[in-house]
Amino acid sequence: MLHFKTKIECETAVRAKIYEIGICDDVKDELLITYTKQHCIWSGQVIKLGIEPDDINLHYLRCYFLYLNGDKRVFSWKTILQPKTFNFKISQSYRNSIYPYIINFRNNNSILQCEICKNNCNLQIDHIYEFKNIIKDFETKYDVIWNKTIDYFEKTEINHIKFKDNNFNNKFIDYHNTFINNYRVLCRTCNTKRNIKMI
Ligand SMILES: [Zn+2]
Repeated sequence: MLHFKTKIECETAVRAKIYEIGICDDVKDELLITYTKQHCIWSGQVIKLGIEPDDINLHYLRCYFLYLNGDKRVFSWKTILQPKTFNFKISQSYRNSIYPYIINFRNNNSILQCEICKNNCNLQIDHIYEFKNIIKDFETKYDVIWNKTIDYFEKTEINHIKFKDNNFNNKFIDYHNTFINNYRVLCRTCNTKRNIKMI
């Protein structure tokens, strides 16, 4: 929480700073840089921190990281303040294990536009058969049972959370990669709508 006494104080200061800076493709502010570095998607590969309008609600500003490979990831700065629960760590570790394949897909696909609305802004890679179902199937198939008292996690050299157990990690990657042609490109708006519908 940096030097702030409470979560609320920190949140207020960070929000004020974001709106004070406004839209910016290379934030140099020390408070924001130090704060956002604590996000689980931050890595040594991040070259810039940016602020842009949210494409769903244009009155809101949101933050993103630009990575060395040209990848851009929007993130919620508020999640930094949320406690990292056991389930959060599990889902992040699963996600990060397949992240290189997402990047690979992105780099090898030249037609980068949303499959639904043909927009080419804020594109995200979406799993057609949903990622959470892949995890559920995998855990059923291999009888995975989690024990909350065990620390299964470690950080990679670029600060991503991962499973300590490499065999387990690889088993999941192999399982995940049996889903062929399961990626598609959606813009953030269509992807969000899809997720809302699922709830
Ligand atoms: Zn779209």
